[in-house]
Amino acid sequence: MPTPPSSVAEPRARWGEGLGFFRAVLTVDSDSCIVWPYGTSQGYPEMNIVDADGRRRPVSVHVMVCEAVHGERPPGTEVAHGECHDRRCVNPKHLRWATHNDNCLDRARDGTENVGERNGRHKLTEAEVREIRQLWGSGGYWTQRELGEMFGVGRHAIGKIVKHRRWRHVVA
Ligand SMILES: [Zn+2]
Repeated sequence: MPTPPSSVAEPRARWGEGLGFFRAVLTVDSDSCIVWPYGTSQGYPEMNIVDADGRRRPVSVHVMVCEAVHGERPPGTEVAHGECHDRRCVNPKHLRWATHNDNCLDRARDGTENVGERNGRHKLTEAEVREIRQLWGSGGYWTQRELGEMFGVGRHAIGKIVKHRRWRHVVA
């Protein structure tokens, strides 16, 4: 378990701390959950990195950990917290690539399915609309269907949002 930096109590890390934590996590040999102490998005660990164009952009840390440990994401899969179902956990041993179906079966089996959130049509907030556009624009980890499932709306709604046909007034 890496030693958490002193600013753990603060909601956002100082620049670079998250990356340090991420690197430390990759070298850790522990069976316990390693809970991401910094910012989250939809409950999942997130940090800002500088991309090739020199722009800061948010990335999902559990996805980066999974890529670092298990290789590039196989098509049609997502990160599953197979062991613990703790969204903020970034222990490489608890993360694996799984199909969405397998992931749902895991959650249903272990009773962690959030039925209320997943059921029916969720009304999006402006912050969520920005997040959807950011995620869509940040390297193609997710399909529109997957983003829809993530945010509790249909695939077509996601399509309209990323093409700015819906929520036009929300500017990132
Ligand atoms: Zn865990």
